[in-house]
Formats: sequence, C-alpha cells, structure tokens
Amino acid sequence: MRYAIVSDIHANLAALQAVLGEAGSADEVWCLGDIVGYGPEPNECVETVKQRASVCIPGNHDWACIGKIDIADFNGDAAAAIMWAQRRLSAPNLAYLDSLPETVTTGDFTLAHGSPREPIWEYIIYPGTAKANFAHFSTQVCLVGHTHLPAMFQETKGAQKPNASCQVVPIELGNWQPIGRRRRIINPGSVGQPRDGNPWASYLLLDTSRMMLEYRRVPYPVEITQRNMQKAGLPPRLYLRLGYGR
Ligand code: ZN
Repeated sequence: MRYAIVSDIHANLAALQAVLGEAGSADEVWCLGDIVGYGPEPNECVETVKQRASVCIPGNHDWACIGKIDIADFNGDAAAAIMWAQRRLSAPNLAYLDSLPETVTTGDFTLAHGSPREPIWEYIIYPGTAKANFAHFSTQVCLVGHTHLPAMFQETKGAQKPNASCQVVPIELGNWQPIGRRRRIINPGSVGQPRDGNPWASYLLLDTSRMMLEYRRVPYPVEITQRNMQKAGLPPRLYLRLGYGR
C-alpha cells in the first residue's frame, strides 16, 4: 500500500490541491492535523480532507477552532486567524474536527500531531525531545507534524539509557529511502505553511509493502493563497511568510 502523509494544511487550498494532484497514485491519504488556521479556505480544506483522508487526527489550531483549547495560548496573528475561521466554519465541518481522535495507531504506525507524549502541543524539533518520546509509542514509526519542518529521528540502541543519543536521519528529497529496522519519528513538513525556507508544499509518500518513504516538495500558486488571505483581511505577516517559507 502507498500512503500520502500530509500535515499542517492550514486552510491553504491551492497547496492542498497541488499535493493531492501529485500524490494521485497513493492508495490512501493520512492527515496529521492543523487542517485549519492561518489560511483563507477552512471549509474547502476540511471538506477535501473529509473526502480524501482515510485517517485524520486534530492539531492545536483545529482544537482552538472548536473551543477545545484556549485562543489565548496563541500569538496575536494566529489567534486572529482562528477567530476568523471560527466565524466561517460550517456546523458539519466543526463537527468533523470535533470527531477526530487525538492519536491513531494503525499497523506499524502511530499518528500524533505534536508528539505521542503530548499530541496537541509538544514540538519535536530536537533529538533530545524525540528521544524522550520513543517511550510513548509502541509501533515502529510515529508520524508527527506541528513544527512545519520535515525531519526524521531514529532511536539508537539503548536509547532509554541516560547517555544514549537519538540520531537525526538526513532527508533525501525526491528519492526513495528505506525506513530501516530501528524505530523512527518522522515529520512530513507542512503542506500549507512550510517554515524551512522552501515555500513549496511538503509531504511524504510511504510505501508500506517495501517500508520505504519519499519526501516530496510541490510548487503551487502561492500568490492565489496570498491574494485570498489579503481579501479576507487576514494579518499581512501570515500571507507574506508563505512567499519565503518561514
Ligand atoms: Zn501547524
């Protein structure tokens, strides 16, 4: 089976459509949360995910939109965009976001937005945080999003010991890579608001029959999303950052 792993779509329909168009051959789509927030098309993105994703978990922005976490925990621009989305999300789409399970385990994979330890809020940016999280899932792989940064961490032998380290696995963009036998925490990066300096939409293809993965980047018409955000009156910083991927 081949899966397209998407995360942090952030109501950016042009980016989502570009990714789904390119990943057309995937048997299933798994979504790691933050469908909404920041961007101009929350309803369209929820509806697309509803139709296309076989598995979906919520992110912090999704939970903020349905009142499960406090908007005061977000910075001013993010909070403004959440309140804007709250006024527009349809009742069925709010109900869909409310129905999503915090984590999902399927086969060799655990899915959590932030981390298996703190699914909604924790950011796994550094190996130390990744290492601490290996004890919080039992499958071979944990798929996470939230940081908007593509990343792979591998458990080293004896990672539970205090001096053991957790290895960062280099990403080979556009090449199939083996997942290997060691346990991993894998982040596909963000579809709708990449923050690694590359504005192209980021996602991951997973081939579970071969246990291989491929990181992909897809160009999309950034200016369409920026124009829609501008028209919607969303904070300028949020649409300017899409142009440089930070
Ligand atoms: Zn996010």
